[in-house]
Amino acid sequence: MVKVGIPRALLYYQYYPAWKTFFEELGAETVVSQPTNQAIFACGNERAVAETCLPVKIFFGHVISLADKCDYMFIPAVRSMGDKAYNCSKFLGLPDMSKALVPECPPILDPEIDLNKGQRHLFQVIYNNVGRYFTSDKGKVKKAIERSREASLAYRQRTCDEGLSYVEAIEGKHHRCEGEARSNLGGSDSNPYKRLKVAVIGHPYVVYDDFISHRLISRLESMGAGIFSPEQVPPETLDMCMARLVGNAHWSFEAEIVGAGECYLEAGVGGIISVAVFACGPDSMMLDMVRHSAGNIGTPFLQLSLDEHTSAGGLITRLEAFIDMVRRKKACV
Ligand code: SF4
Repeated sequence: MVKVGIPRALLYYQYYPAWKTFFEELGAETVVSQPTNQAIFACGNERAVAETCLPVKIFFGHVISLADKCDYMFIPAVRSMGDKAYNCSKFLGLPDMSKALVPECPPILDPEIDLNKGQRHLFQVIYNNVGRYFTSDKGKVKKAIERSREASLAYRQRTCDEGLSYVEAIEGKHHRCEGEARSNLGGSDSNPYKRLKVAVIGHPYVVYDDFISHRLISRLESMGAGIFSPEQVPPETLDMCMARLVGNAHWSFEAEIVGAGECYLEAGVGGIISVAVFACGPDSMMLDMVRHSAGNIGTPFLQLSLDEHTSAGGLITRLEAFIDMVRRKKACV
């Protein structure tokens, strides 16, 4: 069976179930790289230019680690997922940068995705740049696109309905508290160690990459925090909250991060942790808006800026101090 490599980085967290479904419909198998480790980081860091942000350096490390394990590498250039909101320009350059920096990479399947250009354009791009390598049957490619869209909607529905993180949903986990989604901020919880409600907002490829975030989520949970994340909020609610705070979106991630921050503030979360990476332009501008909003209503807000030099020790100290502050603000329900 033909193997398609999918780097466990960047858009993997949001779209892996859709991509897996798409390739399986075409009779191919997907191969995902290991979770980020020191070796993957070192490979990517060695080849990327110094100014590149950490998640993109790590992306190249994943491409290198998969290069000898697959027949094709899937690296779409995702410009926009619609509504005239665009991804950071780094996403557009991924296929070309990968070709230049990873010459040992197998052929790259590199459709440029821009949903603003309509369905017909989308089909042509996907057929020409991906589908035709697996079949000449256009109907089969159309069906694969449709199934992939359904898988994407079902995935998002699960994270909302069951209060799961992207990673938990990909791993097929079920919500730990039976019958109560974690996104239900007002819900009761009999376990006193789960009663601090903390929202963590940031790119999923930063928050859920344990190498970048130093196991942020599990550390917070072990400190007694129940975690709320953007993917647990329905997309339409995120859009509404984002529009209230910043008006029209320009970057795709605004709704997910800024909208989630505003939504959780309105719902009375105990504290907010924003997670950005050093040298990320979009993050530095947008997360500040949530910080102001939290300040206006006195909700504790912690801003983390991570890079390859961040030490776990320093991070833990800040998290402990923050959790202590949330606890003292009587955020427990
Ligand atoms: S949004 Fe920021 S972290 Fe993400 S790829 Fe762009 S610069 Fe890097």
